[in-house]
Amino acid sequence: MQQTQNGICFVCNAQFPIAECKKHMNECVNNMIAETDNSNQSLTILHLVAEVDPKYWLYVIVRSDATLKDLNKFLREYWMEDDHLSCFEYISAITTIPTMTLKEIPMKSTIKTVFCDTSVNVQYIFDYGAWTYVYIKLVGIAVSKKEISHPMVIAKNVPLYHECTECKKAPGVALCSCDKCMCEGCSVNGCAECQLEQDELSPVFDSPRMGRGGFDGSDCNQEIYNYNYVPPKKKSK
Ligand SMILES: [Zn+2]
Ligand SMILES: [Zn+2]
Ligand SMILES: [Zn+2]
Repeated sequence: MQQTQNGICFVCNAQFPIAECKKHMNECVNNMIAETDNSNQSLTILHLVAEVDPKYWLYVIVRSDATLKDLNKFLREYWMEDDHLSCFEYISAITTIPTMTLKEIPMKSTIKTVFCDTSVNVQYIFDYGAWTYVYIKLVGIAVSKKEISHPMVIAKNVPLYHECTECKKAPGVALCSCDKCMCEGCSVNGCAECQLEQDELSPVFDSPRMGRGGFDGSDCNQEIYNYNYVPPKKKSK
C-alpha cells in the first residue's frame, strides 16, 4: 500500500514531497546510524500505512529483539487508544515457510522473527467494532549505535489539513460525531444539529482513528515517540 501524504523527517527535521520519500529515508537512516556512539544494537525499520486513509503513515525504528506487544503498546499511544482489542496478522501467504499462513501472530513474537523478509506483509487490526487496519512492512535492518528503549518514529506524514466545513476558511480544530469539522470560531457554539456543546466535540488529532469509534486522542502521547524528542530538563531545586 502506498502512502499519499508528504512527509516530515525527525532525523533531519526537514519536510519532503512524497515522491522523494524512499530516497530521503535512505539518506537519513544512513545519517542516523553514522551519528551515534557504539552499542551495536540491531534495529528494525518498519513502514506503516493506515488502510482507512493512506495519508497517514509512519517510518518506525524498533529494537529487533522487541516483541509485537511492544509495537502494540506504541501504536496505541501514538495513533490509537487504550481500550478496544487489537491483533497482528500475516496477510501474505508465504509458501516457503509452511507455518506462516493467514493467521494471527502471537504478541510475544519478536520483531526479527516476524519481519524476517521484505516480502512479509503484516496487518495490525485495531477495534473489532469500528475497524482500523494498519499495513506494516519491513524496510531494513540497521545496526544502530544509539540505544533505544522503545519504538521511535523517524518520519511520518505531514499533519493533515482539515478545512472547517462551516466557513470553509480556517483550519478545523473540533470534530462532531456527525463528521462536521469546525474551526476555532465556528465551534464556539458546538454543533446545533447534534445539540452538542463545544466541550463535547473531539479535538482534531493527527491519527487515522480521528472520527472513528469516539476517538479523541486523550490516550495518545505522540511527542515522546518522535526521534527528535528532547525530554524537558528537570528543574534543580
Ligand atoms: Zn531526513
Ligand atoms: Zn469555520
Ligand atoms: Zn454534529
